[in-house]
Amino acid sequence: SLSGKTAIVTGSNSGIGLGVAHELARAGADVVLNSFTDRDEDHKLAEEMAAQHGVKVRYIKADMSSGEECRALIEKAGACDILVNNAGIQHVARIDEFPVAKWDAIIAINLSSAFHTTAAALPVMRKAGWGRIVNIASAHGLTASPFKSAYVAAKHGIVGFTKVTALETAEEPITCNAICPGYVLTPLVEAQIPDQMKTHNMDRETVIREVMLDRQPSKEFATVEEIGGTAVFLCSDAAKQITGTTISVDGGWTAL
Ligand code: NAD
Repeated sequence: SLSGKTAIVTGSNSGIGLGVAHELARAGADVVLNSFTDRDEDHKLAEEMAAQHGVKVRYIKADMSSGEECRALIEKAGACDILVNNAGIQHVARIDEFPVAKWDAIIAINLSSAFHTTAAALPVMRKAGWGRIVNIASAHGLTASPFKSAYVAAKHGIVGFTKVTALETAEEPITCNAICPGYVLTPLVEAQIPDQMKTHNMDRETVIREVMLDRQPSKEFATVEEIGGTAVFLCSDAAKQITGTTISVDGGWTAL
């Protein structure tokens, strides 16, 4: 059980982050939810999760595109036994047409945020004598697709950063690993479906099977619960010697 541990999950008012937060809470951890929005419903989400799992859940606003706010999130939480770096955005365009502001935002939110939160969290974990860092990378941390230059660069970057974090903590009771999901049906992916339908002139079912899940041999989306379950496993005692590596949850994508 993760009872007595505090887990901070960045970008967790939606999608994978929310799913991971739920599974960590189900396993007994107190949870800090985060996003940049700070709406009433974000705080309500925290109340509902606390009631559902009988743990403490707080919502703390921080914009992961700002290094200072990343570090402030860890400080405000007051404890950080488990850090899940999940916040992420996507933009799809050819390199020669890729908006510079989008490139900068993706590198900041999908990659640099993990540097800042990890830098702030490691001293806290060392003081507590235990720590688990789980970075949500992607199949795009191990393979590439055209038109996703910033995303693929950031995700390969986070896999490299995971390895360095693991080496710097190797002799301590701290581990750092990356989960590499294939396609998971979240708002981020749902938003891509209408565009893909238009581009390929296909209906929803066909575009999902033949375009989106083209490289996912299982032909099924992974679920946020499955990503959460993998994170809980990485926080368990059985995973004590698992550090500096990636776990793919991708229906066979990277086996192709
Ligand atoms: P999502 O859009 O549903 O959720 C993204 C989360 O990040 C939201 O909670 C959002 O509030 C938060 N966020 C965005 N910008 C932020 C900022 N500046 N500061 C703080 N929070 C911010 O997307 P998702 O699919 O759940 O993606 C979550 C992570 O999983 C991302 O890192 C993504 O790259 C990765 N991933 C997703 C898939 C997939 O198929 N959905 C596959 C592989 C990896």
